[in-house]
Amino acid sequence: MRILVTNDDGYHAPGLEVLEAIAAEFSDDVWVCAPSEEQSGAGHSLTLNRPVRLQQFGERRFAVTGTPTDSVMMALREVMDSPPDLILSGVNRGANLGDDITYSGTVSAAIEGALAGIRSIALSQVYSAETRSSGAEFATAREWGAKVIGPLLDAPFDPRTLVNINFPPRAPDAVKGIRVVRQGFHDYSRGSIVEGKDPRGHRYFWFGLYAIEHTPDHGTDLEAIDDGYIAVTPLQLDLTHYASIDAIAGRFAD
Ligand code: MN
Repeated sequence: MRILVTNDDGYHAPGLEVLEAIAAEFSDDVWVCAPSEEQSGAGHSLTLNRPVRLQQFGERRFAVTGTPTDSVMMALREVMDSPPDLILSGVNRGANLGDDITYSGTVSAAIEGALAGIRSIALSQVYSAETRSSGAEFATAREWGAKVIGPLLDAPFDPRTLVNINFPPRAPDAVKGIRVVRQGFHDYSRGSIVEGKDPRGHRYFWFGLYAIEHTPDHGTDLEAIDDGYIAVTPLQLDLTHYASIDAIAGRFAD
């Protein structure tokens, strides 16, 4: 089995090393092609207005001066002589839950893989102040990663679908188990932009510093993480809201 490993935290991120180790439990044909710098929040963006450079660091190790989507495209179209059987994206430092999925470069790299018809899985390690200061931020992803990926290797993946995995912010032996759940939603808030002044006296704004409040609905990824479970959510790329088609079409009927 050939595996492509990528992420959005960048080629030098510790989570990428963790995911490589997880991938090595399944295969000795593991390729890395990841953004050269952090691209968190890049979503499914493509670099269109400047050149993208490919840097090689080993026989199967590459960095791309672009987005996570650029990295997967480069891997599939330029770097690898035959396509991978599996694409793993992560392990992201931080949650990719609920509505945040569309901002996520981690999930978007897996989306690009799904578009290419390749089995693709995104992995994220949720952190808390406690796990962050423990020095073992990725311990749970490392310990549980292969246990979650293994059963997904021969699970049915419909075209244009992928799987999003989040590990809860607790020690590996305190994880309660694995739940397959739907995507939840956040309470949209205006409070997450922080304003400050730079050393030259100019105002700046910084996004996404605070966790967004959510009301964990039953059976969602957010609830599973709050309850101490690993959240596994199958995602689809068809964003059509089928229930609205007739009602909207009715507005345009003669
Ligand atoms: Mn990230």
